Amino acid sequence: MRVWLTALFMLVTGFAAVTAYEIVRPIMEDSLTRASEAAFDQVGEQFESEIVRNPDFSTPRIKSFATSRGLQWGIVRAEDGEPLKGDPNLDWIPGVVEKAVAERRGVSNSIRVPSGERAGQIQATYASPITVPNAEGTAVVFNTFYTESDVRNAEKALDRIESIALLAGILALFIAGVAGYVAATLISRRVSRLGLAAERLAAGNFDERIKTHIEDEVGYLGAAFNSMAVSLKSAFGQVEQEKKRGGAILDGMTDGVVGVDRDLEPVFTNPRAREILESSGLDFHTRLQEILAKSRYSGPVTEPEADAGDRIIEIRAAPLEEGALAILRDVTEERRIQRAKSAFIANASHELKTPLFALSGYLEMIEDEEDEEVRADFLEGMRVATERLQNLAKTLLDLSRLDANAVTFRMEELYLEDLLHELRRDFEYTGRPLRLHVEKDVPAVETDPNQLHRTLTILMDNALKYSEGGSPVDLDLHRENGNAIVSVSDRGCGIPEPEQPHIFERFYRAEGSSRADGTGLGLALAQEIMHHLGGEIRVQSKPDAGSTFSVVLPLSEKAPLSRTLTHS
Ligand code: ADP
Repeated sequence: MRVWLTALFMLVTGFAAVTAYEIVRPIMEDSLTRASEAAFDQVGEQFESEIVRNPDFSTPRIKSFATSRGLQWGIVRAEDGEPLKGDPNLDWIPGVVEKAVAERRGVSNSIRVPSGERAGQIQATYASPITVPNAEGTAVVFNTFYTESDVRNAEKALDRIESIALLAGILALFIAGVAGYVAATLISRRVSRLGLAAERLAAGNFDERIKTHIEDEVGYLGAAFNSMAVSLKSAFGQVEQEKKRGGAILDGMTDGVVGVDRDLEPVFTNPRAREILESSGLDFHTRLQEILAKSRYSGPVTEPEADAGDRIIEIRAAPLEEGALAILRDVTEERRIQRAKSAFIANASHELKTPLFALSGYLEMIEDEEDEEVRADFLEGMRVATERLQNLAKTLLDLSRLDANAVTFRMEELYLEDLLHELRRDFEYTGRPLRLHVEKDVPAVETDPNQLHRTLTILMDNALKYSEGGSPVDLDLHRENGNAIVSVSDRGCGIPEPEQPHIFERFYRAEGSSRADGTGLGLALAQEIMHHLGGEIRVQSKPDAGSTFSVVLPLSEKAPLSRTLTHS
């Protein structure tokens, strides 16, 4: 760039110098000639004003006028061109004298002498009519020749001007070259700086700025660069933020997102999608690919249930310009709840039907029965069926209210020992041996006493129901790993191990439990209550040996004072 700019400066300057010289030279030449002509023209004017209008208009004055200006002079008769007075070698341009006399005014003319001794010289003649006694039609004539030397002088002057012009041109070229180089260096250095800054900006350094103080085009370019860098930085920041936000949304999504290109190769997957894909088998991968491929040709596709290992995944795929996108939603729990709901409704209606049928049967029979004793039996049957119906309705209602979080739990400090004593009192009427084992100084727990009482009542009911009359039921309270444990143990039929995980499901009844009256809802309700109280129920059971159901309640961290301390 420097070389080019320097060369350009010199070229322009050289061209300007040559052009100027070419224009000026003929003007100078012309003006030289004109200057001599003009000088001669003044002869006439001066003659008019100095001599003719002077009262002392005499031959000696004309002579001295001509001599002082180096002119030939003479008084010539126009008629025959006869010089009456004057220089013996007077010469003049033909016709000038005649014209002056004829027009009665001063006339001048100049010509280049074509040949002869004075060839090439410029001859200038001035004639002015005068009246001479005894001679008519006379004129004063002045004549001169601009000789070779005059022209040479002019040429010399021109040559001198030429050499000065040449020198000035060379100097101008040199100065232009230096100026061009300096200017080019300055500009190119600033432009290179701009280029480097632009490279750094392109590499992602958005804090790159140009220091610019000079208010010229490069300066404005620098300022524009700076404001572009600021805009880029903020735009890039926004894009980054959006990207992060989008990434965070994708990462935090509970649904899996899989994006594929035209060849169905994955281009992105969020963590949830990776989890699903890693835990599923080849069948699921193949199905997913099929659905993605289908969506590319026929628009959005939904597969409501695809097996992915032990999970059920809903796949929704949609085409994208450059591929396709699939949303993977784990619907295992949803489907389980749906199925449980349907089963619950079927079971509930079945359970409600049983006592209702019993009631309607008793009603029909009681109408025709006259025997008082039998009628009394029927009435007892109706009372039991009604009670069963009431219990069932209450349990169902409690469960649905717990499901809907519509139960208010009133938490307070409770000494579990007191609750166990109360339970024993409640079940004394059964006549069964109820034994209490209480560890000393178990602190109070923060709980809802009524709900906990309900839970333990269910466990007591079951312990009594599923064991032989006369066998004991043990109530135990102790501490273990920061929890208070209340256990209800019987020596009844027990529960086979494979069935144990299911006994908390709604309406589930273990095999062999049909000998006792029940609906399969008691443990489900008890467990639901314990979840809401922040505790849990554990079971240990052996068929024919008995079962122990334990309620685990966390002891509060600030540990309420133990009874001994409170009482002391
Ligand atoms: P149910 O109304 O049938 O007692 P639960 O929900 O209380 O319903 O109990 C579910 C099932 O768990 C019972 O049907 C029974 O098979 C089993 N079960 C519960 N408690 C005991 C126990 N103490 N001994 C043996 N089996 C029990």
